This record gives sequence, C-alpha cells and structure tokens, in this order.
Amino acid sequence: MTKIPGWKDKILFTPGPLTTSNTVKQAMLRDLGSRDIEFISTVQWIRDKLLELGGVSNKGYEAILMQGSGTFGIESVISSTTPDDGGWLVIVNGAYGHRLAQIVKTLNLQYEILKYAEDQVPVPQDVAEALDKNPDISNVGIVHCETSTGMFNPIEEIGVLVGKRRKVFFVDAMSSFGAVPIDIEKSKIDYLVSSANKCIEGVPGFSFIIANYNSLEKIKSFSRSIVLDLYAQWKGLEKNGQFRFTPPTHSILAFAQAIRELIEEGGVEGRAGRYIENYETLIRGMESMGFKTYLPKEARGYIITSFRYPESGFDFTAFIKSLGDKDIVIYPGKVSNADCFRIGNIGRIFKADVHNLLNAIKASVEELNISLS
Ligand SMILES: *Cc1c(COP(=O)(O)O)cnc(C)c1O
Repeated sequence: MTKIPGWKDKILFTPGPLTTSNTVKQAMLRDLGSRDIEFISTVQWIRDKLLELGGVSNKGYEAILMQGSGTFGIESVISSTTPDDGGWLVIVNGAYGHRLAQIVKTLNLQYEILKYAEDQVPVPQDVAEALDKNPDISNVGIVHCETSTGMFNPIEEIGVLVGKRRKVFFVDAMSSFGAVPIDIEKSKIDYLVSSANKCIEGVPGFSFIIANYNSLEKIKSFSRSIVLDLYAQWKGLEKNGQFRFTPPTHSILAFAQAIRELIEEGGVEGRAGRYIENYETLIRGMESMGFKTYLPKEARGYIITSFRYPESGFDFTAFIKSLGDKDIVIYPGKVSNADCFRIGNIGRIFKADVHNLLNAIKASVEELNISLS
C-alpha cells in the first residue's frame, strides 16, 4: 500500500480555511453515499442545528446548504432573490462589500452603492435616505464582519430600517456566524450566508443560507442560474433530503462533528468567549511590541485584526516566510489605502497558540531587524 507522506501542519491565523480539530478531520474518514439514509439524516440534522445556532428554530426560517465556497452562497442569494423589476442597494466599506457589488454588477442587475471609507462605520440613517430616494430598490446587501479590516457593521440598526421599508435584507455573515451573536429576527434578515470553514470550524466545501420562509416562497422563478438556484436547492432538500448535484459528503460529515464541538463549547456564546480571549491576548502582545492596528479600538471586532506595516520598506514576504519557518501562517492585508497584514483569531486555536504566535513574531522581528517605534 502506498503510504501518505508525513507532515506537520502549520497553525493558521487566517480568515479561513482554518486550523480544525483532529476529531473534525477524523469525521471525514468515511465514504458515505449521497443517497444513503445516514447521509440524508445528517444533512437534516445540520439544517436543524443551523437554525438553532441562529436562534430561529420554529420561527419561520429555513437552512439551505449550497455546494462551493462562501462566495457561491452569496452569488446564489443575489442571483436567486432579485425580481425582474428590482435592484440592489449595496453597502460597501471594504473588500468583501465590494465583492457583493461586483456580483450584482456582473449579473447585470440595477444597483446603487453606498460607499464608505474602509475605517468608517456605515450610518443607518444614510441607508434609510438612500432607500427613500430610490424606490426601485428591492434588495439591500451588507457584510457583517468586514474580514478585510475586522470591523463589525451595525446590521441590526440597518436591518430595522430596511425592514420598515419592506425591502429584502441580505447579510454576508461569513466570518461571524457561529461566534458573534446575531438576532436574525430583530435585524429583519431575509437571507444570511455563512460557510463551513469559518467560525463553525469545519473544512471547506459548502456554504449555507438561513432564509426567511415567507421571502423564499416569493422567489420561485427568480433564479438566473441552474446550479445556484436557491429556491430549487431548498425544494430539492425538502422533497427527499438530497442535493440536486453531488454534495461534498466528506465536508458535510466534518461539519456535523464541528457543530457538535461548537455545542460542547457552549454554542455561540462559548465560542465568542474563546475568540475574544484570543483577540485580547493578541492585541496586548502586538501593542506591547509596538505594532499598530488599522482600526481604532471602538471599531474593531474580535474575529480578525488588520495591523499596519511597522515601518516603510517593511518586507512582508520575508516576514511571512520567517513565520512560516516557525509553523505559523498569517495573511496579507486587504485594505486599499494602507499597507497592512492580518491575523485571525478564529479556528481551533487557544490562548496558548496566540502566545506561541507572539513569541514567533518577536523572534522574526529580531531576525529581520524590524524597527518598531
Ligand atoms: C471568507 C469570506 C467570504 C467567502 O469567501 P470564499 O473564499 O468564497 O469562501 C465572503 N465574505 C466574507 C466577509 C468572508 O470573510
């Protein structure tokens, strides 16, 4: 028998894919048929648990799984929920908001963009004014945690104003769902998207959509795509519990285990607690070395942090290589107006891992003679 070559995994301080637990990885070591009763009941169990995690069991919401990465879920919602005579208001204050706008444009839909600087929090009253000025807008889209900067956007305040105007509200909660409390009902969210490999700590392979039942019932003939047709995907899962096209069976088995581990940790609150501890440990350590964050304290979330390059001429490539040699992975920045790198606090990582990261950064700073003021 051919042997798998040996390896040692690096710890991922990234926005996903993330470091996962061994038990999540072990749950994948099976071959299950996609029409097998055990697989079908696992999918149903996951759909029920997602509604529980979202706090909307038996409240008129549905959970739908969609093959592909997170962006496939976003494109599914945008391409499946816009009426022919409708259009979008997209709120943008970072790269992921920009991606929503790009999808809307590519689908040739009508749109308005409400744009802010990347270090600015969207203002709910601006959204209300934009909607009142453009009555043709039917759908509003926003990112919850802008993973480029780490900012949490005020989705509840905005959702209330959107709901009052009877517009469809879509939230990209990719990097927050499962670890940041979200009141889906109160925020008047019609569609929320997240994916398997973010705060629930599964492996990549699919995204999921939590959708308001009454809103779903209105979109039957709206889809502009076959594979991303949200309504058809939902009806397929409802009819026989199966996907219309090959599902990522292994990734779904891993996800079921990841949900069990999330529940054991105390659900959304428990996971938030660990990530906040990671975040606070990180900030304290980085600031004491002299690193500066991109966002001021009051605008920062606890999922991921953008740090400014410490000096002009800072060699990021050498820095990540030096950290990589110490089995640590961090990510480049995604802010347009400042040189930054990003460190994520999510995944199967604990305070002790963050201390290891800080020690590695300290060592790399010395090796590379980086000057910190
Ligand atoms: C990760 C992420 C996505 C999805 O990215 P994929 O690479 O398609 O999985 C979308 N929006 C936000 C805010 C994210 O953090």
